[in-house]
Amino acid sequence: MNKRISSPRQTQDIIKQHDFTFKKSLGQNFLIDENILSNIVSAADVTDASYVIEIGPGIGALTQLLAERAKKVVAIEIDERLKPILFKTLNGHSNVTVRFGDVLKVDLHQIIKEEFPDGAEIKVIANLPYYVTTPILMRLLTSQLPITDIVVMIQKEVAERLEASPGEKSYGSLSIAVQYMAEPRIMMAVPKTVFIPQPNVDSAVIRLQVRKEKKVQVMSEDFFFKVVRASFGQRRKTLMNNLMNNLYTKDQKASLLSVLEEVSIDPKRRGETLSIEEFGKLADALYTMK
Ligand code: SAM
Repeated sequence: MNKRISSPRQTQDIIKQHDFTFKKSLGQNFLIDENILSNIVSAADVTDASYVIEIGPGIGALTQLLAERAKKVVAIEIDERLKPILFKTLNGHSNVTVRFGDVLKVDLHQIIKEEFPDGAEIKVIANLPYYVTTPILMRLLTSQLPITDIVVMIQKEVAERLEASPGEKSYGSLSIAVQYMAEPRIMMAVPKTVFIPQPNVDSAVIRLQVRKEKKVQVMSEDFFFKVVRASFGQRRKTLMNNLMNNLYTKDQKASLLSVLEEVSIDPKRRGETLSIEEFGKLADALYTMK
């Protein structure tokens, strides 16, 4: 077994040797706990047949474990200052490729085509940079990529929003957007103390199993999300008020009320009490509203 990159001592040594300075603006909080790293890999059910994309390898702590357990790992890192470090720490792992670029800008379809065999099913596994968690997850979920699972460490509060059910405080349009495309499950909570430098927030590992079929079938996805966003416009307002303020005009009020009645949704309810299925039904009925 290779020397563990993740031990606090080893991490400090690597950073010192290379005069590396952390960039807060890139969300650089490196993990220094091997148990947590190992739990992330186990949470993703990685086997020697798995193809993995890692986002933000840092100095390679998670990458090393992934390389030992997976068939192939492609890591995408934005910070080119990490090039000489990763070259050294991952030396000897012939099943790892590191690509330098912004995961929000690189052509993921092209990378997958170049790096993985045709028809490969891919898992995305990462300790994500927290400043771009939501855009990264939305990009992964909406780009029609052959991804089966996304297992990521993110801010605990965001993980709770992704997993929240109707009526819960954290439930909102982000919960619906993610649950429409994937099945989320928080796998573990992670304290601040296992990172250097320590972040200001607690973390959690969440697994998103990408659905083969969307959670609900709707006539227009764009319109469905318009209705969802409008319904959560102001949390204290009723569904009716939010829809009137954000999507409809006064002269449409009567039609709106009759659609709500038709789909048996009380206009006095608040958006945060509606399930995805109810939003689907409502959006379809509004889509064809005369
Ligand atoms: N995987 C390492 C670990 O667990 O110790 C580092 C995780 S650190 C929280 C996030 C990493 O993502 C950093 O290496 C950072 O440079 C990288 N990163 C930040 N923004 C990125 C982006 N837009 N695209 C790719 N990598 C990014």
